[in-house]
Amino acid sequence: MSLESLIQSIKSYNPEANFDLLKYAYEFGEECHLGQKRKSGDPYFTHCIGTAEILVDLKLDLYTICAAILHDTIEDNEEITRDKLAWRFGETVADLVEGVSKISQYHFRGGSRQRQAESYLKLLLATAQDVRVILIKLADRVHNMETLSFQPESRQREIAKETFEVYAPIAQRLGISRIKSRLEDLAFKYTNPEEYKLIAKSLNQKLAEREDYAGQMAEEIRDALAQSGVAAEVYGRPKSIYSIHQKIKEKGTPFEEIFDLIGLRILVNDNADCYRTTGVIHENWHHVPARFKDFIGLPKANGYRSLHTTIMDEGHRIEIQIRTHVMHEVAEDGIAAHWSYKEGVPESETIFKWLRGMLEDIRELRNPNQFIKSMKHELLADQVYVFTPRGDVIELPAGSTSIDFAYKIHTQVGNTCKGTEVNGMITSLRYRLCNGDRVKIITDTSTHPVREWLRWVRTARAQNRIGQWLREQDRVQAIELGKRFLEIEMKRRRTDINMWLKSERVTEILQILNLKSPSELLQHIGTGQRLSADIMKLVAIDNSSEDIESTDGITFHSTPTIDLNIMGTDSIRIMKCCHPIPGDEVVAYVTKGKGISIHRHHCQRIANEEADRLIQVDWEPTDEISYPTEIIFEVQDRSGILGEVTTTIAAQEINIRKGNFGPADSNGNMATNSAFERVGYNKMMLEVTGLEQLEQAIRAIRQLKEVIRVSRN
Ligand code: MN
Repeated sequence: MSLESLIQSIKSYNPEANFDLLKYAYEFGEECHLGQKRKSGDPYFTHCIGTAEILVDLKLDLYTICAAILHDTIEDNEEITRDKLAWRFGETVADLVEGVSKISQYHFRGGSRQRQAESYLKLLLATAQDVRVILIKLADRVHNMETLSFQPESRQREIAKETFEVYAPIAQRLGISRIKSRLEDLAFKYTNPEEYKLIAKSLNQKLAEREDYAGQMAEEIRDALAQSGVAAEVYGRPKSIYSIHQKIKEKGTPFEEIFDLIGLRILVNDNADCYRTTGVIHENWHHVPARFKDFIGLPKANGYRSLHTTIMDEGHRIEIQIRTHVMHEVAEDGIAAHWSYKEGVPESETIFKWLRGMLEDIRELRNPNQFIKSMKHELLADQVYVFTPRGDVIELPAGSTSIDFAYKIHTQVGNTCKGTEVNGMITSLRYRLCNGDRVKIITDTSTHPVREWLRWVRTARAQNRIGQWLREQDRVQAIELGKRFLEIEMKRRRTDINMWLKSERVTEILQILNLKSPSELLQHIGTGQRLSADIMKLVAIDNSSEDIESTDGITFHSTPTIDLNIMGTDSIRIMKCCHPIPGDEVVAYVTKGKGISIHRHHCQRIANEEADRLIQVDWEPTDEISYPTEIIFEVQDRSGILGEVTTTIAAQEINIRKGNFGPADSNGNMATNSAFERVGYNKMMLEVTGLEQLEQAIRAIRQLKEVIRVSRN
């Protein structure tokens, strides 16, 4: 289509349009695609104009038309950026073109047709700021479908399938039935070529005969309506090949009957005339009561309104749709109708009922983008759409983190995720994903889930998988711990535990205790459900028990020190009463069925516990994990001294979890002696890897000359 005929078509519905801008877009687009060819051999620019024409048919505004002309420029020409377009054509056109380029990257795989279309629509709404982006994308697809014959056969089928699965349903959701049936017919031609040909041929055979008859019927109805004083437009309506196929396949209508069917449409001025028209028709012809449908009283989900009735005339079935001009426009153009330039047509006539039963009155629909915004809010409030590095779309509940994403990809990816890259930047695993983020998970087989993740994840899937991993870890750890406890007892009786575990005795004991396996026995010991000392009574090997020694009033079995690899799981808990850290002299208290709790040697909480349940353990620090512990300090009054203390701590790479400082005294000083006396200690909870790091920090604080005293609490 030439620029001149494009201008003429737009002028017919929008005479005031900025044709200079259109001319500029036309020339600019033509230059951008200069030398590029379509598969058909045509210049590439014919596709851009073809896309624009489809939108002109929908009577869209000039920005949309310009954006359609330019829709492939960013993608196809490296020198063209959004900003360059904004500078030349303004923000709206630039945003529309950028939006189309963006959504062209998305792919959908798997899932039902319905679900794909819905996900896609939601995604488009999430990322496209403007619904006109979707309209351009649909027009782009229509034009590509019309020129599909130039593609290789395998590609044809693939594109046709995607059109069926994604684009036609979107057109339907948006109420644009014109584009919907055009896309369906075009796609059907490639997915079922044989059937397409058969239906097309049958349609053509009786075409003239049917058209004559329809014309005659239309004439009779027109007369009847004129006599009743109803102004109406009556005409025969074309049939879509795919809709005929559906009628045969899904509703089981016999082939012959379908081709005898005549479709008529009557357009009138207002609602009342719709019902009056129906009355006139039912008076003059036999109608099929069961086939009368009132979609005005009860509009379809996509906003479609009409009255449907079927009449019989000399053995012919005639299906009639009765609607107002405005209803007709919405039925054909759907959401696109709201950008249309129509004079003297009250918009308040139409109703849109949206996805998920959302109903909106068009009276409030002054600005269609406002409508899209509220629909977006409704639809997307609880979901977020992000991409894999390959461009596949992943749907997650809003607030999900990279960890949720990792588990959605695969359990193993979740269990080994170490870091994440969002939009090319290294980001924390805790980062909450936003719509349109491109997420890449960095895995490392030496990493594993930690309990803290449970607080960060939003999906049930991630929760379950992390919980599963931790439970399994707890089990393995409890078995190991139980084995160590039992080993200590066995060593004192000079028995080798591995030999014993394979012996007949174990089987007997398992029977007595009603346990299934040696590992279950060890697990029970490890979690404290059974005491190793009690087991030993059953074992009853050599009973030469040794002395019990006493240290600082706490009684221990004289056990050798054992190593504990503490992972902060359920089976081993580090107690908050005394805040032990690696390097401390620590005691493991075997609870009654709730695993092991670790206390400092002097902790009052364990002072009166049974000796049987206390085990001295050795706890070596690792660099990876920090544990909280509390210090108290007292300093001389000087402004900024608290800041210096905290800076000194930070310089040791120690995190301060919380600080509790005394309120200021009468001189406005916070950390003075008087404040110390009045309110107690200045306290800080530090996170350290072990005793050594804590002592280093205390030494460093002591070097500040205002520090009077500092110690562990
Ligand atoms: Mn295109």
